[in-house]
Amino acid sequence: MDLTVRGVVRRFGPVTALAGVDLTVAEGELLTILGPSGSGKTTLLKVVAGFEIPDEGTVRLGSEDVTLAPPRQRDVGMVFQNYALFPHLTVAQNVAFPLEMRRMPKPERDRRVAEALALVELAGYEARLPRQLSGGQQQRVALARAIVFNPRLLLLDEPFGALDRKLRESMQLEVRRLQRRLKLTTLFITHDQEEALILSDRVAVMNAGRIEQVGTPGDVYARPATRFVADFVGESNLLEGRASGDAAAEVPGLGRIALARAAGAAGDRTTLLLRPEALRVGAEAAALPNRAHGRIVETVFLGLSVKLRLRLDGGLELLARLPLRPSEPLPAAEGETVPLGFAPEDVHVVGG
Ligand code: ATP
Repeated sequence: MDLTVRGVVRRFGPVTALAGVDLTVAEGELLTILGPSGSGKTTLLKVVAGFEIPDEGTVRLGSEDVTLAPPRQRDVGMVFQNYALFPHLTVAQNVAFPLEMRRMPKPERDRRVAEALALVELAGYEARLPRQLSGGQQQRVALARAIVFNPRLLLLDEPFGALDRKLRESMQLEVRRLQRRLKLTTLFITHDQEEALILSDRVAVMNAGRIEQVGTPGDVYARPATRFVADFVGESNLLEGRASGDAAAEVPGLGRIALARAAGAAGDRTTLLLRPEALRVGAEAAALPNRAHGRIVETVFLGLSVKLRLRLDGGLELLARLPLRPSEPLPAAEGETVPLGFAPEDVHVVGG
């Protein structure tokens, strides 16, 4: 079932948590709401789930207006960060709970519970209590409980926040597989941009109660619509300059740089995005139209890559991220000055 949110506003006294949100999640799609703490993600989820009534706007599931419907009438499955399993009920009883609420006959109930536990790979754990499970297993029980009644919509609010990195990564892939297999319309909330890029069909980036951009992970990363999105999603070099009218711009500290297209009328202010992995360092910089020199002021090893902070004459700092191959030494050490370069096509005009 598709979800449509239109013009949703929610205020708490002087705080406007949602300042007019429009969003559509297509049937079978996984859409992630990505935003910093306090941007309104949880409030939006609560409005969709029915725990908050918006001051303005509507929520529809398919053709049904559910804006004022209580949570239990919405048929929405939910998983939160702090598991919220019933501690005194077994795994099977926890998963059966929503079916009991719906007064499903026992044979059908047992069949569904077994199916859901098999889907999250917890067959054989029926009789355990939540405290006899690991954090990851508890989250899988919560997931089974959320999908066991074939919800019209699945809501996940930072469900892996409490798990360690490795477990979080395997749970992310598991949820993705399950969501695709069951074709569940899913709204996923996170402040972790990596998680959003890995999981989503589309990402909606939220800031101060508004959605700033909705797009595929590739779109949001490569073509951010606003400065906030460019900065929040991935690492970035944001260059403030003035358009020169043709396919170039003047950037203090870098001079005239060539772009793939005009950034506006001559003299217009412009913000340009250059991702760290697009900045070339060393010999390969020589062939590129945009060139400079920078002193390496910091080197951070990240496993598969290395991040360099480079200072140009005049003080402008740029980040570069280079792949690390054991067979190839780094182009230079900290303190040394190296050639830098980047291609016009790798510069994105933010908001343009
Ligand atoms: P986090 O990632 O920290 O959970 P969030 O993006 O989910 O943040 P919300 O919890 O939706 O953000 O909060 C949005 C804003 O609304 C915040 O400024 C918050 O303090 C405020 N807010 C949320 N719920 C209430 C409430 N019940 N009463 C007053 N203010 C609230």
